[in-house]
Amino acid sequence: MRKIVLFITLLLSVFGASQRDFTLYKRHGSPDSPTLLVFGGIHGNEPGGYFAPALLVQHYRIEKGSLWIAPNLNFESILRFRRGYFGDMNRKFATIKPNDPDKKTVERIKKLILDPKVDLILNLHDGHGFYRNEWKNAIFNPRAWGQACIIDQKSIGNTRFGNLDELAQRVSMRLNHKLFKNHHIFNVKNTETKMKDEQMRLSLTYFAITHGKPAMAIETSKNITDVAMKVLYQLRAIEAFMDEMGIKYSRDFDLNLATIKKLLKVYGSVVINGNILIPLDGVDKILRNIPLSRQNNRLTRADHPLAALKQNGNHYDLMIGPNKITTLYPAYIPAKTVLPNVRVEADGKQKTLKVPGRFTFQKRFAVHAPEGIRVNVIGFAKKGVRNENNIEIHAAKLLPKYAMDQENRLFRVEFYEGKFFRGMIIAEKAKE
Ligand SMILES: [Zn+2]
Repeated sequence: MRKIVLFITLLLSVFGASQRDFTLYKRHGSPDSPTLLVFGGIHGNEPGGYFAPALLVQHYRIEKGSLWIAPNLNFESILRFRRGYFGDMNRKFATIKPNDPDKKTVERIKKLILDPKVDLILNLHDGHGFYRNEWKNAIFNPRAWGQACIIDQKSIGNTRFGNLDELAQRVSMRLNHKLFKNHHIFNVKNTETKMKDEQMRLSLTYFAITHGKPAMAIETSKNITDVAMKVLYQLRAIEAFMDEMGIKYSRDFDLNLATIKKLLKVYGSVVINGNILIPLDGVDKILRNIPLSRQNNRLTRADHPLAALKQNGNHYDLMIGPNKITTLYPAYIPAKTVLPNVRVEADGKQKTLKVPGRFTFQKRFAVHAPEGIRVNVIGFAKKGVRNENNIEIHAAKLLPKYAMDQENRLFRVEFYEGKFFRGMIIAEKAKE
């Protein structure tokens, strides 16, 4: 029996894989027009193309006009750091097979492109080499894609922002005022798709422009290895396009390399199945005995747009894009509706806490769950006590090795009713 189950699981992992849905974030100002639509992550091995829009989602406010952001088009490939796990998604916009795992995604993208509210579309990439008009060598040449605004043709008639070449030239010029290295200079690459580029006729931007929608690609370079630097170039390009369109925005950070490096390492937290809270910043590499379901475990909330839960054999990886942040080893426990809230008493102060949630304490705490609920403080053991409901827990009695994080300050408090899991909260020991 066991072998059969294993075999079926194996089959599913090879043939049953399917594309994950991408997320669309809409940011409006007043008035809410014009609208820039930014697509990231159509190629999963081009991190500049998805970490930049992730920062747009988290740190930008739109005051005038609208910014729509889909940072993770090809989410399954992003998690695997593959160009296209189901083939190149950017070659599926002319025709697509009915059984293609990307079909639903490509159709959603097309619908967004055709939305009458959308005025200009940017598709973000990290391309090979550095684009130059003339051949210099294998890295700097007309066939390279890096550090360029890519247009399919000079303009499309009768539409606002249809002057693609002029727009791209002005944005490139602006980018070129501030480069980390001289060879990072941006150029405009016109693929003259209609006449010359058969492959690009299958692409997202060509679908857009043949349907009367101004669109282009921004490519940073795969030959720039610092992701933060690529993200910075992408953000500067997107800001320049917003300026060109008259979209007014603000951001809650300074646009420089050091800050972006820092922001790229902030992951926030996730909620799984509506009942488990996992803070990702500083989390241990492995978390054990996590009360998961036998199937359909999923994130129900995530602070980071590229957060994902990925099954991997007998465990689950929590990912931020292609980066594994922690691994969860499950204790399969059936779940019942999550408790709405519990009372906690931290250092003598009482408050009501939503489940799942977290609270801070200095020296001691007690959790007061409803009658009939068993409370399990992971890392606390007292002889003869099986239910830690209403029991005072002293910081010194918590075993550091059971903490969730590298600083040993976060402790899980889990709720059970009979054999059912009913949610958890996190007790956070304050920094000394
Ligand atoms: Zn690409």
